[in-house]
Amino acid sequence: MGGESHLQHHWQGVLSSALDAVGHTPLIKLDRIAKAEGLRCNLLGKCEFLSAGGSVKDRIAKRMVEHAEKEGVLIPGQSIVIEPTSGNTGIGLALACAIKGYQCIITLPAKMSLEKEVMLRALGAEIVRTPTEAAWDSPESHIGVARKLQKSIPGGVILDQYSNPNNPLAHYYTTYEEIMYALKTSDLPRHDIALLVAGTGTGGTITGLGRAIRDYETSLVNGEASSHARTTILAVDPEGSILGGGEPGNYQVEGIGYDFFPEVLDPNPPVVDKWIKTNDDEAFAATKRLIREEGLFVGGSSGSALSGTLRYLHSADGKSIAEDEDANVVVILPDGVRNYMSKPWFLETSKRPVKEDEEQKEDIKDTIK
Ligand code: PMP
Repeated sequence: MGGESHLQHHWQGVLSSALDAVGHTPLIKLDRIAKAEGLRCNLLGKCEFLSAGGSVKDRIAKRMVEHAEKEGVLIPGQSIVIEPTSGNTGIGLALACAIKGYQCIITLPAKMSLEKEVMLRALGAEIVRTPTEAAWDSPESHIGVARKLQKSIPGGVILDQYSNPNNPLAHYYTTYEEIMYALKTSDLPRHDIALLVAGTGTGGTITGLGRAIRDYETSLVNGEASSHARTTILAVDPEGSILGGGEPGNYQVEGIGYDFFPEVLDPNPPVVDKWIKTNDDEAFAATKRLIREEGLFVGGSSGSALSGTLRYLHSADGKSIAEDEDANVVVILPDGVRNYMSKPWFLETSKRPVKEDEEQKEDIKDTIK
């Protein structure tokens, strides 16, 4: 895949800045969930919340900024970074801008969490909230407002994650390489991916990973190819988004689904084999399972990805992978619950019936006696 390996910087010695701690996230076995679901395959989570800015989007923010600097599009001391985002690309960009000294303006639909806004402000970014229900191509949407701002602000640059090739390329080079390296150096019987699952927002993650996987498969010569799984690539999309089919509508999960097809998304085979729709309830229930059963501090779209994965593995199509104890299933877990601590779906987790509390107090008293 050419160029210097991203892995050469895998946390060796002292890092130059937080930007060097972008990516390099662990691939972790989800054994308890796999067992409870009766799966024999190896269910593995790619833990993107452990990246420096807390999400999968740090990778594209870093790559888009560094590329724009090289091209002379971003000029230190002059340029102002403006970007429409559901929050995580904004956090990644604001982190890069804080370190590199650029001003940063983020346009963010109203639905996105207060935690994301607070984090963005803490990184020094300015925020403009836009109506969630505005169609993507209307002047009021987060995309429309960003474009308007760019026209009126001298030095304003939109890196545009929806069309920037560095979005999928960040995953083509870094996310893919990390997953393959983790598998190759693991104690698992096979080192290939039987099933890859990712939620889709811009589609950068699934497109970049999908292309890297297919290019690798194509590069294999006969003998190697026959012993290598052809990876099934599954895209997960919330009900209310049009990407995986269906009508546009409301849903609470953040960061995935749109009312238009972003330019960087390649939604068809060979990149994406199959689309699966998920709803909020199953996504939030699966998020809580990842926290409670696996100790992983993930956000809502990680639950969407897991619930889509389980749906597929329990279907007729997924049966052969589900029952194969050598098969590796990789699920991208895009961000952390840090972004959603005040959301009702997460706060509910801490609620217990009053009686249970009273009983517990009595138990504690008895124990102390
Ligand atoms: N989950 C979350 C929480 C996100 O912020 C995003 C990015 N919008 C995604 C999933 C989807 O990533 P991508 O844009 O690469 O499709």
